[in-house]
Amino acid sequence: MIRLRLEEVIDGIYRVKVGMSYCFILDKPDGLYLLDGGFERSGKTVIRAVKEIRRDVDKELKAVVVSHHHVDHTAGLWKIEQQFNVPIYAHSRDVPVILRETNPPPGEGFLGRLFVWFLKLSRYHPPRTVLIADSQSFPFSVIHLPGHTDGHVALYDLDTKTLLCADLLTIGKNVLKLPPRFFNQSISIHLRSLRQLKVMIETGKLVIQNVIPSHGKGLLRDADRYFLEKIEELLERQGR
Ligand SMILES: [Zn+2]
Ligand SMILES: [Zn+2]
Repeated sequence: MIRLRLEEVIDGIYRVKVGMSYCFILDKPDGLYLLDGGFERSGKTVIRAVKEIRRDVDKELKAVVVSHHHVDHTAGLWKIEQQFNVPIYAHSRDVPVILRETNPPPGEGFLGRLFVWFLKLSRYHPPRTVLIADSQSFPFSVIHLPGHTDGHVALYDLDTKTLLCADLLTIGKNVLKLPPRFFNQSISIHLRSLRQLKVMIETGKLVIQNVIPSHGKGLLRDADRYFLEKIEELLERQGR
């Protein structure tokens, strides 16, 4: 059996490695919440991780929130749904793609058109039901930050002031980067989301101390000012 790479990265936030990305489990007073389901083969790993945490905290898995429709975040969902009989939520713009009522749209440029073939050819079994997360209330905020996909969301946990930013940004050696261009449905909308996040921080609407992307081993702790400066730098480099 593959070694389970599960760690509590921030108080009550667990991260489990699934192939090239991470899924997250939030331990909240009313139960556990899962962000994303990984690739098809990752479904079992996520199930093991949830069971492992449940042994310690004795709470049920209440809901799954999906950050966006890409297969590395969604293909494992059907196994998780089957195992725990748990509701799955995603932003309304991505729900039809997750259910494969519509085909995954391409990313930007030539490579983006190749990327869509990768999405189409990947092993994928849609979950039975995906509910709309937009107006649903959770013990954390679901922030719509489109661009990477139309329905891309991040989770913000007020208790720990942590942003699980999904594929808005990636991280390597504690340096934040934009995801490769061709993975994004629209880089200009993606940058607009980054600007929107910047305004939310500047106006004090969001106080972010920790930032944890779904790709890349690192995470930012006590990021505060640094995170804002980094967003400004990324936007400047893109000339916007
Ligand atoms: Zn993605
Ligand atoms: Zn991803």
